[in-house]
Amino acid sequence: MSDIRTVRPEIPDFEKYHSGMAIEEIQARYGLAKVIKLASNENPLGTSPVVQHVLKQNAGMAFRYAQAGTPRLHAAIAEHHGLPVSRIVAGNGSDEIIDLLVRIKARPGQDNIIAFDPCFSMYKLQAKLCGVELRQAPLNPDFSCPWDTLLALADEHTALCFVTTPDNPSGFTPSAAELEALARALPPQCLLVIDEAYMDFARPLGNYSLLPRLDEFENIAILRTFSKMYGLAGLRLGYGILPEWLADYCLRVKLPFSVNIMAEMAGIAALTDTAFIEATLQAVAQGREQLTRGLTALGCTVYPSMANFLLFDLPAKATLDAQGLFQALLERGIIIRPLTSYNLPDSLRVSVGDASENRALLDAMLEILGS
Ligand SMILES: *Cc1c(COP(=O)(O)O)cnc(C)c1O
Repeated sequence: MSDIRTVRPEIPDFEKYHSGMAIEEIQARYGLAKVIKLASNENPLGTSPVVQHVLKQNAGMAFRYAQAGTPRLHAAIAEHHGLPVSRIVAGNGSDEIIDLLVRIKARPGQDNIIAFDPCFSMYKLQAKLCGVELRQAPLNPDFSCPWDTLLALADEHTALCFVTTPDNPSGFTPSAAELEALARALPPQCLLVIDEAYMDFARPLGNYSLLPRLDEFENIAILRTFSKMYGLAGLRLGYGILPEWLADYCLRVKLPFSVNIMAEMAGIAALTDTAFIEATLQAVAQGREQLTRGLTALGCTVYPSMANFLLFDLPAKATLDAQGLFQALLERGIIIRPLTSYNLPDSLRVSVGDASENRALLDAMLEILGS
């Protein structure tokens, strides 16, 4: 029977997106003045002062549409990577590029997408919304990648293969050689989408990313974002480095003004602010050390991470479980990320904060867990 509420069959199944909890939410719930958020892998140093200056100077431009296709931003990104501008597509976060790739490349009810399990929720959500089957290969227990299991899922209807590196939520980073072998083994119609949201934090780049050698591959797309290292999560800006023909399709079908004029100006400025980038990389490297040492001293199992976050498990003898620790930290005004939505109920993810935030987390955990 169809009535006014008739919608596509995929739709009623959707739940609201579970993001990291908001600071305001926790302040109100527990009556706290100060809340530390280490839940969404945001930049521990905040927004670059150079970007803030540009935004203030240009606040009066908010009435203008951005130039459709944001050509100035595309040129700046292309120059930053030394790649032709015809390969760059900026979006409203790299989330928009994920959405575009699924809609452009995968035929509903016919094609499939392959990825690991767990994987970034956006791949799942967009596949489901588009009526495209998602096939997942479970990661190894240490979060390394079982490539053969993934490849075994691919067939002549596999349109896309998503790999996140450094991975979220584990921080695991496979070698560039492994990615190269995958790219060469996938069926000819399948595009390998390498989501490098956190690659800005990995060193040396050539060991982990195929970006420096992208010319050697026709079947690779790379996703980058301004949300993490560049500290612009709230402005929504990411981009794809795509084969030219695919970039062209994206620009033809994408909503023309999805990248707003403030995000465009901020992105261009952020690429120039090398002092802020250096400071961020240093803060993240030091903070990752500090947290790894501190969590290990508390008896937690900490997984190696090249990203600006860490995945950890509580000690087996702990008096609380992961959900219990998450709650106890919330009551003390510290938000971290439970991983039930990734099907990892015994693990927690924490973003690297600044030195005092990391200290506050470790102190609170010592108090909660006992020595
Ligand atoms: C944060 C993140 C992104 C980037 O999202 P934006 O839409 O650019 O904010 C993409 N992929 C993964 C795996 C992420 O964690």
